[in-house]
Amino acid sequence: MRAAELVEDGALRLAERPVPKVPDGSSLVRVRAAGVCGTELHFLEGLLDPMGSPRVLGHEIAGEVKDARAASSGSRVAVYNVMNCGSCRYCNTNRDRLCTRSRGMIGFTADGGFAEYVVVPEANLVPLPDTVSFEAAAVLACSGMTAVHAVRLAGVGIGDPVAVNGVGGVGLMLVQVAALAGATVLAVADEAAKLDLALSLGARAGLVIDRPEGYETLPEETSRMLGQPPDVFFETVGTRETMRAGFGCLAPGGSFVQIGYTSQPLDIHPGALIKNELRILTSAAGSRNDLETAITLASQDRLAVVIANRTDLDGLPEAIRSLRDRRVLGRNVVLFDRTGHSSR
Ligand SMILES: [Zn+2]
Ligand SMILES: [Zn+2]
Repeated sequence: MRAAELVEDGALRLAERPVPKVPDGSSLVRVRAAGVCGTELHFLEGLLDPMGSPRVLGHEIAGEVKDARAASSGSRVAVYNVMNCGSCRYCNTNRDRLCTRSRGMIGFTADGGFAEYVVVPEANLVPLPDTVSFEAAAVLACSGMTAVHAVRLAGVGIGDPVAVNGVGGVGLMLVQVAALAGATVLAVADEAAKLDLALSLGARAGLVIDRPEGYETLPEETSRMLGQPPDVFFETVGTRETMRAGFGCLAPGGSFVQIGYTSQPLDIHPGALIKNELRILTSAAGSRNDLETAITLASQDRLAVVIANRTDLDGLPEAIRSLRDRRVLGRNVVLFDRTGHSSR
């Protein structure tokens, strides 16, 4: 089968490899769609360790179960990519990703979905309603799930003023999920088209900031546009300037929720936090329940999935380049039923 692998020197290589063997308790999934995430950039930059190489990347996966032995063979699924135990204190409290007996994550430390087939533990197969497409499900499997998790973690409630910094794949989902939770959402985008998209999907206010210095006035701008400072600042960008501005924006007792990051450190004096009892929360991926919620919302037409570009595996490097250059409106996805290589 064809696959995109991360190799030793941090490069992405398109390669031919055997269809993987399937251990007991797992199923083979024929990948139909795989989302291209900012996390891919982190792997290529060396910020994340794939725990072995070559590693097939791709952790936003939807497809069909291909397993003659399994009752679920042929069924449409989204892949929950956190391989947790399902029974520890974290798994029992909707914090699957913190599982103490985790076997890693598909597309991170186990081979992922930028390939025609991927091995998935049966517990990680999430049934997909016919009303949710493979490409939408792939995006829900990361950014949708992440947004549901972060909004739940932050305890966003009815009428709460909230800011979402960054209108990428996750940011667009955050805008929608926070609005569904009842928040009044302000979106900060780096271009007008992204802001328009956020406004069309539930943001009540927003602004475009296209250079680092622009963030200096964000605290006043958010306060003015929301009528009060936000209780929650969802950070999906993670540069020095944006993180500093985020803390500067918050209402007393507010929460800074770190989701996206770069190589730049968070640099803030504790006094600046203590003075107003600000909180720092961090949110990574989500639980299986968060993913199921995202899929349900999408199947009810309450959560929209915006696909920027559809490509095949050969187009993956360009899809990653456009993401690095911030040229993506929504999410890029790799589709596998158009490649002509998926006959096996
Ligand atoms: Zn992702
Ligand atoms: Zn566990």
